[in-house]
Amino acid sequence: MDAAFCAAWLEAAALAVAAERERLTDLDAAIGDADHGANLDRGFSEVRQALAAGEPGRPLAVAGVTLIRKVGGASGPLYGSLLRAMGKALGESFTLDEFAVAFQAGVDEVARLGKAVEGDKTMLDALGPAARALAGAVRDGAEPRAGFEQAAQAARAGALATVPLVARKGRASYLGERSAGHEDPGAASSALIVGALVTADGEA
Ligand code: ADP
Ligand code: MG
Repeated sequence: MDAAFCAAWLEAAALAVAAERERLTDLDAAIGDADHGANLDRGFSEVRQALAAGEPGRPLAVAGVTLIRKVGGASGPLYGSLLRAMGKALGESFTLDEFAVAFQAGVDEVARLGKAVEGDKTMLDALGPAARALAGAVRDGAEPRAGFEQAAQAARAGALATVPLVARKGRASYLGERSAGHEDPGAASSALIVGALVTADGEA
């Protein structure tokens, strides 16, 4: 895998976020400020433009910086840092093993910046299980396709598992116990972004 795969991933993530923009905003309306779909859709549109205009060899770095600069909400800098950390960890071409290690490095960066842990009802509740599923697939000698499918499934399950949780980080935490009973919007978007790996694998 190489830069073309990363560009295809970002493109697929942008399309998935655009398609699910309303759902993400509705989730954020329930426990936040109803801007998550709009924030991410605008951010990923900027990413597509930056990729079309920028250095072709460094899509993750370009996307990371773009999301950090252009998205106002909490999620932009967190996703931007995830992608930027992955870009730093990956060489020009890489194996699934190296991709899994880079993804974990990105997830660790999100946890560090957000000062969050799994169970706090954030994007980490989808990203953490996805990183472990990817590492597990590597240990089992899986092909990239199977590894990405397992990661996507783990991310979706992790996002759904945020429903009963009480938020301890971000805007939703202001609601206290009333945040329980709703899926975390950032966990939902993380599931889309991880799911886009499967789409990208079919294309690049
Ligand atoms: P904002 O909360 O500023 O309006 P968004 O609506 O775009 O930003 O994103 C909200 C999502 O960001 C939450 O659903 C949660 O998943 C994620 N998030 C917020 N704060 C943190 C944090 N400290 N660590 C990890 N993720 C967080
Ligand atoms: Mg919001």
